[in-house]
Amino acid sequence: MSVRAVLALGSNLGERSDTLSLAVADLVDTPQVRLREVSPVVQTKPVGGPAGQPDYLNMVVEVETDLAPLELLAHCQAVEHKHHRVREVRWGPRTLDIDIITYGDLVMEDERLTLPHPRAAGRAFVLQPWAWMDPSATLNGVPVGQLAAAAADRDGLEPFEPGD
Ligand code: ATP
Ligand code: CA
Ligand code: CA
Repeated sequence: MSVRAVLALGSNLGERSDTLSLAVADLVDTPQVRLREVSPVVQTKPVGGPAGQPDYLNMVVEVETDLAPLELLAHCQAVEHKHHRVREVRWGPRTLDIDIITYGDLVMEDERLTLPHPRAAGRAFVLQPWAWMDPSATLNGVPVGQLAAAAADRDGLEPFEPGD
């Protein structure tokens, strides 16, 4: 049985745009994860974490997967590691972060995985690209465009054009 999942990718170190493109390719480089939709890339001011870190590029993708939730998490973490993510400071700079935002309609709370992602509903850098990708999407029953418009970080976000 396959499930639609929404993944959020972010990068604020190194060749950010290339990293996101390569990461999307790596995520779907298995028959068990198939690409459905890709959002525009946005450039965003970092939220939380240490002061003075570089701006992020963020995007979301929708995949169809046969992987179970924890298998999908492990798959995302393997792609992070491939791109030399080192986890040091919480919410600190990183070459690549991949979060699972939704996995079908599944609601779960495990120490390794909470679904939907517990902080996504307040993050314009997830919600706005998601709304552009899929204007009909909802999170916890609310249209994601509406959540994006209400998010505290919505003004720190701009469309990113390669070459910027
Ligand atoms: P945030 O979760 O606020 O976006 P972060 O992405 O910087 O912060 P990480 O250090 O990447 O946090 O992840 C910490 C842990 O969060 C991971 O080891 C993972 O087990 C757990 N986790 C819980 N729910 C999710 C989810 N929906 N997607 C990805 N990781 C999750
Ligand atoms: Ca994250
Ligand atoms: Ca993460």
